[in-house]
Amino acid sequence: MNLVAPTADFALAQRVAHLGTETVFAVSAEAAALAAQGKTVYPFHLGDLNIATPENIVEASLQAIRDGKTTYCPNAGIPQLRDALAADVSRARGLDYAAENVSVQPGGKPVIAKFLLTLMDPGDEVLYPNPGFPIYGSLIEFLGGVAVPYTYIEGSERFHLDLEGIARQITPRTRLLILNDLHNPTAAECAPEELARLAELVLEHDLLVLSDEAYFDVRFAGTSRSLVSLPGMRERCVILYTFSKKYAMTGWRLGAAIGPKPIIDVITTLNVNIESCPNHFVQYGAVAALSGDQSGPRAMMATLKGRRDAALEVLNATPGIHCLTPETTFYLYPNVTGAVKTTGCADHESFRRLVLERTGVSFCTRLHFGHALDGESEYYLRLAYSGVSTAQIQEGLGSLKALIESYN
Ligand code: PMP
Repeated sequence: MNLVAPTADFALAQRVAHLGTETVFAVSAEAAALAAQGKTVYPFHLGDLNIATPENIVEASLQAIRDGKTTYCPNAGIPQLRDALAADVSRARGLDYAAENVSVQPGGKPVIAKFLLTLMDPGDEVLYPNPGFPIYGSLIEFLGGVAVPYTYIEGSERFHLDLEGIARQITPRTRLLILNDLHNPTAAECAPEELARLAELVLEHDLLVLSDEAYFDVRFAGTSRSLVSLPGMRERCVILYTFSKKYAMTGWRLGAAIGPKPIIDVITTLNVNIESCPNHFVQYGAVAALSGDQSGPRAMMATLKGRRDAALEVLNATPGIHCLTPETTFYLYPNVTGAVKTTGCADHESFRRLVLERTGVSFCTRLHFGHALDGESEYYLRLAYSGVSTAQIQEGLGSLKALIESYN
C-alpha cells in the first residue's frame, strides 16, 4: 500500500511503510483549490453532513460543560451512555447486551484499530471489503496482518456480497472478517439468506467479525438487519457503532465498540493506553440523542431522501450511467462504464478530472475505496449527497449530464 511518502531525513519505523490513508482527503484539497480560484464546486466527494446536530444534543452537551463534566470520566465511558447504548443496540437487533458489552470510543473509526489490535496476530489473514472503507486495508497491513479483499457484485436490483469469493478465499490462516453491511461505498445490504450463509461460513471456519454498522440507522425504508442477530454470532462479533451519521455528529467524535465482554475489556484497556477516556461532556449529548426527541434525525432522513431521489433522477437520465436505488447510507454508486467510454477517458482518474474541470462536480471513484481486483472491468463513482443541497444536486449533476451528452 505504502501511501505515506517518508520525507524526513531520519528513519521512520518500518511499519509506516504499510500505513495507508483516505485518499478522499486529497480530492477534498483539490476541490478546495478549485473553489479558491472562484470556480463553483459541487462537493459529492466527502461523506460529511451539511446538516446541523439536533438542538437537544447540543444543549445537553453545553449543560454538561456548565455542570463541570470537563474532567476525565470512566475509561469505558459514562455508565448512563453505556446503558443507553446497550439498550438501543439490543432493541434494534433482538439481543440482550448490557453496559459491560459497551466501550465508548472517540468515534467509530477507532474501533477498527482496536478490534485488530485485540484479535489479530501478525500474519493472520483478514477478509475485508474492496471496494470498501479504505482504513480497513490500511490498518490490517500496518498492524502486520494480511489483508484479503472480497468484493461486491452488481445485480439488477442491488449489489451483492461476493459470498462465493469469500468462501473461496478462507484459508487455515484466516482469523477475522470485516463486514460493513449497509456498505460504504455501494450502499449494499445483505438479504437474510446472504447473512445466513455468511454466519455459516463464520461458524464453520471459526472466524471473529468486525460488524461495521456505521449506517445501520441511516435508512429511508425497511428495517436494518445485523449479522450479530443470527444464532452464534453475538459471541463472535464486535459492532462498530457511531453517532456520526445518525445524529449528524461527525465532528463530535463519538462512537462505541459493542460485543463480547472479554474483547470489550481489552478494548477499554486500549482506551486507557491511548486516550484515557472518550470526551466527557459530549457523552451527555449522546445520552440525550438516544433517549430524547427523534425529530432531528427524522428531518435529516427526509432531507437526505429528497437529495437521493433528485440525484437518481438525473443520473438515470444520463447516457452511459445507471444507478441502483439504495434504501440506506447517503451514497450512490453509479456504474459509469458507458460514460467513461463515450468521453474517451482511459481510466477512473481521467474521468474524475475531466468532470471536475469541466463541471465542478467533485466525487470519488471506485479507486478511492481500495484497488481494482483481477478481472474488474466496470467503472463506478461514489457520490455522497450528505453535503450538497437538492438544488446543487440538480445543477451539478445536470452539468455532468450535459457534458456526457455533448460527446454523443
Ligand atoms: N465505517 C464506515 C464504513 C464509514 O464510512 C465511516 C465514516 N466515513 C466510519 C466507519 C467512521 O466514522 P466515524 O469515525 O466518524 O464514526
